[in-house]
Amino acid sequence: MPDILPDEAEFWELFEDTVRSWLKSYGYRPIRMPIVEPTPLFKRAIGEVTDIVEKEMYSFVDSLNGEPLTLRPEGTAGCVRAVIQHNLIAQAPQRLYYMGQMFRHERPQKGRYRQFHQVGVEALGFTGPDIDAEMILMGARLWDDLGLDGIKLQLNTLGQPEERARHRADLIIYFEQHQDILDEEAKRRLHTNPLRILDSKNPTMQEVIVGAPKLIDYLGDASLEHFNAVQQILRDAGLPFEINPRLVRGLDYYNLTVFEWVTDRLGAQGTVCAGGRYDGLVGQLGGKAAPACGFAMGVERLIALVRDSGGEPAKRGTDVYVVHMGEAASRMAFRVAEGLRDQGIDAVLHCGGGSFKSQMKKADASGAVFAVIIGDDEAAAGEVSLKPLREAGDEQKRVKVDALGDAIMNSMLDWDETTEEEEQA
Ligand code: ATP
Ligand code: MG
Repeated sequence: MPDILPDEAEFWELFEDTVRSWLKSYGYRPIRMPIVEPTPLFKRAIGEVTDIVEKEMYSFVDSLNGEPLTLRPEGTAGCVRAVIQHNLIAQAPQRLYYMGQMFRHERPQKGRYRQFHQVGVEALGFTGPDIDAEMILMGARLWDDLGLDGIKLQLNTLGQPEERARHRADLIIYFEQHQDILDEEAKRRLHTNPLRILDSKNPTMQEVIVGAPKLIDYLGDASLEHFNAVQQILRDAGLPFEINPRLVRGLDYYNLTVFEWVTDRLGAQGTVCAGGRYDGLVGQLGGKAAPACGFAMGVERLIALVRDSGGEPAKRGTDVYVVHMGEAASRMAFRVAEGLRDQGIDAVLHCGGGSFKSQMKKADASGAVFAVIIGDDEAAAGEVSLKPLREAGDEQKRVKVDALGDAIMNSMLDWDETTEEEEQA
């Protein structure tokens, strides 16, 4: 479970800001669920025979009341629980999102961690296919907003439960005929969740998997129509996609549309976003049946891409670093720093004493645009010395405390204009 240190966390904040305004532009509203839920919720929602429930959940017993609890491995189950519990879709469909930590006990490697973060986006109460397509198009816009290219869309349909049941029966017969090639995991899943065998990455099984019965051949008219309509909207929008019949998703609750956004720039962990329709889940978790559709993005993987592509948060330290020495000066320094913040200027107050020289070193290292220097002299005169740290040649000057904010604002404006002119030139 990685720590995210300040140099890295600045990228996170930039990413989160971009994501929030992107979601707002599509009418999505925030929802915040607890990080812990009762274990049975995940078993029911995700499915017993899945990677997550079989081997990845951090589950424990609440020592005070014996209740089995789990750190959330994904957000959809908790979101749907909250929607049902608070009757959120009784009046109108909802577009919702959340971002935060998820926990899965996996083998840690690049792009795969035991604590990771997802942005989850859920639309409840819409039957689609319009919302399915909109959710996919949203992705394309976000990659653009983040300055990313080379993220490709894979699309598939899982049909409806009855259609899957007929396909499943034929799959079992087919894989039974190829028992000798199946690995242990596939053998175990053969009778519980044979669809997941199609998802296996084991190279020795690929040939058998390619020859397996295809779900698309089992779909009825309504399912095919839904799938075609999604594709039509994507084509109208000029968004290229690849249909991947092996895209079955690792969670049981999906039906009809499923999709993944994949890049080849992250090695083996190339899926940055995945989702689909899950019309059965609300009913399955005890709510009045309602259609739903959603997706989750892997934040660590997207931020890795943003960093690789050279995207940088606008790096500017604080505006002002306040340097001070002597008792009267130190007391005045507090007032000066608070006064600057009152005017909307960021100020870091030097804490911990030390010589002027060592304080000035810290001022430089802070990335501040100005040092405000207060010594006994300045304090006695109700003034400060204002020293530009970034502009070569500009002189330090004495300024009345009352005029300090304006002096700083004016020279920051000048400074912004000259850097802008330089950039344009
Ligand atoms: P995978 O097949 O890679 O294990 P998954 O199907 O388990 O993925 P989802 O449950 O669909 O993943 O989660 C959505 C997204 O969350 C993934 O596409 C990925 O970007 C991210 N993600 C999933 N697990 C992890 C993890 N352990 N560490 C970092 N990101 C993850
Ligand atoms: Mg997984």
